[in-house]
Amino acid sequence: MQKIVLASGNKGKLNELQQLLINCDFEVVPQTQFNFAEAEETGLTFVENAILKARNAAKHTGLPAIADDSGLEVDALNGAPGIYSARYAGPNASDADNNQKLLKEISTVTESKRSARFQCLLVLVRHELDPTPIICQGTIEGKILFEPRGTNGFGYDPLFLIPEKNCSSAQLRPEVKNVISHRGKAMKQLLQKIQSEF
Ligand code: IMP
Repeated sequence: MQKIVLASGNKGKLNELQQLLINCDFEVVPQTQFNFAEAEETGLTFVENAILKARNAAKHTGLPAIADDSGLEVDALNGAPGIYSARYAGPNASDADNNQKLLKEISTVTESKRSARFQCLLVLVRHELDPTPIICQGTIEGKILFEPRGTNGFGYDPLFLIPEKNCSSAQLRPEVKNVISHRGKAMKQLLQKIQSEF
């Protein structure tokens, strides 16, 4: 069976990605099983960073690689934290630190102006120098809550209200989140696109 490396060291992301790939026709190996440094995320867009991560993993493993670059865009903050979502409160920030900073930054923003979305860019490279990476994007719209709700998921999930479900992303069961999430939507497209290749 063809092996594909998952270019992420983020536990929450890896769990979701592995679940989304559970019935696929290739063997998925997280990059944490190898011993190499993560790529520096020097891009200014999700897609640039996802390509950097995928190429880095393909380079060090010799395998095709799938990378996920994702984050939260808050309209009242002109799209921040965006590509800096993981490091919003500093280079080694925890999810709790980032959530606290987000709440502080939008403390004066009223309910009607708290629109936000999660973005997920998934990139697959067949090898390190692949000139035509497969690129898929998924989004989910929501609103930033005034306080955390729920304990599932990771990152900003406790602060992200999904209006249609009337609950936060951290209150969703993981299998429900994976169907409606930015990541779930992007992976659905990716699996369709690579069906004939692997
Ligand atoms: P990346 O590893 O640079 O792509 O950063 C992704 C960051 O975006 C995570 O560390 C989270 O802070 C945030 N994020 C991405 N996807 C999700 C999600 O599904 N739920 C909550 N936060 C997310």
